[in-house]
Amino acid sequence: MKRLFLSPPHMSGKEQEYIAEVFESNYIAPLGEFVNRFEDSIKEYTGAKNALALSSATAGLHLALRVLGIGRGDTVLASTFTFIGSVNCILYQGAIPVFIDSDESWNLSPKLLKKAIKELEVKPKALILTHLYGQMAKIEEIVSICKEHNIYLIEDSAESLGASYKGKQSGVFGDFGVYSFNGNKILTTSGGGVLVSPNKEWIEKAKFLSTQAKEPFLHYEHKEYGYNYRMSNVLAAIGVAQMEVLDKRVERKREIFEFYKEELSDIDEISFMPEIENSQGNRWLSTILFKKTDPLKVVEALEEVDAESRPLWKPMHLQELFKDAKSFVDGTSEDYFKRGLCLPSPTSSSNRELMRVVEAIRKVCQ
Ligand SMILES: *Cc1c(COP(=O)(O)O)cnc(C)c1O
Repeated sequence: MKRLFLSPPHMSGKEQEYIAEVFESNYIAPLGEFVNRFEDSIKEYTGAKNALALSSATAGLHLALRVLGIGRGDTVLASTFTFIGSVNCILYQGAIPVFIDSDESWNLSPKLLKKAIKELEVKPKALILTHLYGQMAKIEEIVSICKEHNIYLIEDSAESLGASYKGKQSGVFGDFGVYSFNGNKILTTSGGGVLVSPNKEWIEKAKFLSTQAKEPFLHYEHKEYGYNYRMSNVLAAIGVAQMEVLDKRVERKREIFEFYKEELSDIDEISFMPEIENSQGNRWLSTILFKKTDPLKVVEALEEVDAESRPLWKPMHLQELFKDAKSFVDGTSEDYFKRGLCLPSPTSSSNRELMRVVEAIRKVCQ
């Protein structure tokens, strides 16, 4: 029996051919043609004006804050219902995180966002907004609140490459957007990220900072400090091959979600993550809520049939790390965290294989 992982890498078949080209050219590292091609493919797919390939999405978020001049003592708002990679960058910059809860969309609540802006004594400089599990947040409303209050919007689209709202791709609504190519995302380069922005100068600056902030001289001249955050040409070759099958992966992820939904539709206590009107998520992970069953019981039952599952992200405001941070919450994400579960969503598996997930859940819930 093949183990069913949450979201394992799924190669297109072209990766090794492109990697071979990299080796033939000997542009193994640091840069080369495939880095440009990878960035171009992201721009073409998402409609982003400018793109920068990096070692991770976490690096991309860090660069976004650096470029925006956000530093010590500045306040940065963020979705509380997210993965730690969204918000570590705030700490890297010595800035102060303030967390905002979700609403029924599972994503950031525009209402609580307004409340936070109104009640905070300092003006927040930026908002890091996560499109959770590949589902679009209420982006139109959030963009307009940020514009009204002059708050930079950074979209954490690490999980939502390929998701769209009114036909516009996740990641291109804000001042910056970031996509992840980590091992468990919808596409992977084994590890990597891409930063996008409508602002060319910002991406140029991020590029400069991502390559040790070398001034344009033959010798090594430095006026400020940078990072070693750029993506290698080898990994970019994997990325080019992966981008070629993004549509197929989104299609299969959405089928998996529909399959679970259909097969579990008669169990009243189970509900699925919603999709906001006019949007299409990438359904990176199929996620559900139970009314009465303890999700950990389901995790055990799934382990018995060699299927991986996990609780939803533990909200940031409940983490020990952020025990002193301010938050604007109403219990929504805490409730979802307690009742929720991520199901195996591997695009390389058939519905027949996923049936054992369904059967194991049915056993526990009935
Ligand atoms: C995976 C993830 C990240 C971090 O991406 P890396 O490429 O691993 O740095 C950030 N935010 C969210 C919401 C994620 O799921």
